[in-house]
Amino acid sequence: MAEKKSAPGEIGINTRLAHTGNKPSDFHGFVNPPVVRASTVLFPNARTMETRAQKYTYGTRGTPTTDALCDAINELEGAAGTILVPSGLAAVTVPFLAYLSSGDHALIVDSVYYPTRHFCDTMLSRLGVTIEYYDPMIGAAIESLIRPNTRLVHTEAPGSNTFEMQDIRAIADTAHRHGCVVTMDNTWATPLYFRPLDHGVDVSIHAATKYPSGHSDVLLGTVSANAAHWPALTEAMVTLGVCVSPDDSYQILRGLRTMGIRLERHQESAMAIARWLESREEVARVLHPALPSFPGHELWKRDFGGASGIFSFVLKAEPETGKAKAHAFLDALSFFGLGYSWGGFESLALHANLSDRRVAKAPSEGPVIRLQIGLEDVADLRRDVEAGLAAANAV
Ligand SMILES: *Cc1c(COP(=O)(O)O)cnc(C)c1O
Repeated sequence: MAEKKSAPGEIGINTRLAHTGNKPSDFHGFVNPPVVRASTVLFPNARTMETRAQKYTYGTRGTPTTDALCDAINELEGAAGTILVPSGLAAVTVPFLAYLSSGDHALIVDSVYYPTRHFCDTMLSRLGVTIEYYDPMIGAAIESLIRPNTRLVHTEAPGSNTFEMQDIRAIADTAHRHGCVVTMDNTWATPLYFRPLDHGVDVSIHAATKYPSGHSDVLLGTVSANAAHWPALTEAMVTLGVCVSPDDSYQILRGLRTMGIRLERHQESAMAIARWLESREEVARVLHPALPSFPGHELWKRDFGGASGIFSFVLKAEPETGKAKAHAFLDALSFFGLGYSWGGFESLALHANLSDRRVAKAPSEGPVIRLQIGLEDVADLRRDVEAGLAAANAV
């Protein structure tokens, strides 16, 4: 795939991933940074303590371990600064709290990650922010939704579960003409396949729980901002007292080393399964941005350097049998686990719940099954999906 499109700088992305975020010479030559566990940091004298004139002042404000990860993410995102937060969801809520105030209006893409919607509809609404959901395919026409008090436009592409693409550049340029901050949840592509800040986004959000972790055992979020939006972001993190453990930061930095080659494999296997599903009689549609049949494919081709390993398909069914067929499919799988999250080494499947949608409605041809394609051998995964389809056929 044309991953160079999004690769930062001139050196190759895998070379960069192998050497970013650590300075062995700072740590006696050890290849990896130490895991520094800390609350208290000592100052050499009262004057330094008064002026806080040293690099580290308190554990919540960073350690050499969290800095190593932040440096790596800054380089990958092309950002002025990155904060680390305890989950991907916190990577959405912290910037929303940083940039929004009572009386503001925020535009949120309708195909958004569901817990983001929940935060908007509950806590943000309670704090006096008006929320409006917009069509992911809106592009520059988002202008018609912008009000004098619109302060933030949140994007996520591809969309959660249904993978709608967005014209990020058109939305960002329009939003900026009206003084809005543009945020993007870029978890699907990672900065390897799409760099939001290069396409006009101000704040790039990532659930590092997914591909950077890669092993289904760490929860962490990163938020990276351009120079104009960095001060408010770092201030919000300090004000809220949000911070992450050095052990989790270390694990994410470790995951980054292999993320490039893991993503290549996820991409290749997911495309093989997606293409094969397109040929199946039982399948109404495959929702994968890298398939030429997908409505947002041209945007994906224009902007993205690759595709990751998660996509959905629509299983043909009458409304009465849809749920039973979906459950039969899932229960017949053996290598695919039934579980949330993704980005790990193991394949996962679920029946997507799209009842929250207001504009980007659920497909009408049947249930939407989401697949995360792991690092297993494709032939085994295909046999597994085949067993699932056979079980659905029997309903
Ligand atoms: C998983 C996910 C999140 C949340 O990450 P957690 O670490 O599980 O809280 C946010 N956005 C998207 C698009 C996700 O898929």
